[in-house]
Amino acid sequence: MKPLHLTALLPAELCEFVAALGEPPFRARQIFAGIHHRRLRSLDEMTDLPKELRAKLGERTVVSTLRLESRFLSTDGTRRYLFKTHDNLPVETVFIPEEHRDTICFSSQSGCPLQCTFCLTAQLGLLRNLTAGEIVEQIAIALNDAYGVGVRTPRGTNLVGMGAGEPFLNFEALMKAIRIMSEPSGLHVVPNRVTISTAGVVPRIRELATIPKRPHLAVSLAAPTDELRNQLMPINKKWPLKELLSACKDFEKSLKPGERFTFEYVMLDGVNDSDVHARQLANLLNRHQLRAKINLIPHNPAEPLPYQPSSGSRIEAFREILESKDIHVFVRRPRGRDILAACGQLAARESSSLLRGNHVVG
Ligand code: SF4
Repeated sequence: MKPLHLTALLPAELCEFVAALGEPPFRARQIFAGIHHRRLRSLDEMTDLPKELRAKLGERTVVSTLRLESRFLSTDGTRRYLFKTHDNLPVETVFIPEEHRDTICFSSQSGCPLQCTFCLTAQLGLLRNLTAGEIVEQIAIALNDAYGVGVRTPRGTNLVGMGAGEPFLNFEALMKAIRIMSEPSGLHVVPNRVTISTAGVVPRIRELATIPKRPHLAVSLAAPTDELRNQLMPINKKWPLKELLSACKDFEKSLKPGERFTFEYVMLDGVNDSDVHARQLANLLNRHQLRAKINLIPHNPAEPLPYQPSSGSRIEAFREILESKDIHVFVRRPRGRDILAACGQLAARESSSLLRGNHVVG
């Protein structure tokens, strides 16, 4: 029988499980705090539990399922982790230290079923959805690696569901992982420190809006017209721009005063970065009067992808056109490029010879 993954359980589920073993509820609280607050990765480390209970738990449960295969360290401090699941599938996570906060970019699927043509992960296809526990583990391991086991982070941590996979195609597990991580007796991540990035799964955008303590929304746009978006993001054939922006308009009703959601726009040289594209994009957003900001993301070139990044001056010209039309724009600084940790580069490459970065741990 497959062991029960304790990291995937909410406090109430853990209570139920512990009660079935004939143990009092405070044992469930100890175990939950051990896994999520102290970020212990095995039952052996939970020395506040009686030995007999640890032995009993060890017979039918497991705390960790992800195995660290490799860790890559960028010259800018970004760290990329390649894990393997219990069934040997790749999972990647990126830790990005910044001056005032850290960002952890986690994966929601192993591989991805969507076929965005500017993304390496797409080439893997979908291997499988990750469980809530596998999502939570990525964050715990990255924090332990950066600060030490259980050490509280000196800065805030932002979590971004922008690693491998389309998070909204694994919605239940994703939302459960966020609920587990939000528990005050655990990691205590506030949902408004979490951003979920979607390629445009329209029904889930509307569903997210109904969740009371929901994470932020980011939508990858990549093109201002259906014709171009169909080429870059085939999901557009299922949910074209009109439907996508109508869902975004509905989502807007759930925004707090002053809050905006985000559109991401990957900048591909000679493909979607002309002055005409910028004007089309501004007109599209203004026509729908969306309370959104745009993140311009310099593309991260990686073979065999057929694209090159837009030049700095092109990105600047694009930004100026958007700003002249009253669009809020940010240009994202690429991080971890030397270790292929950047957006769209998570391809779970198995061979370290393919990586230009500093391969730290085998
Ligand atoms: S960009 Fe995101 S949604 Fe598109 S193929 Fe890559 S991982 Fe999947």
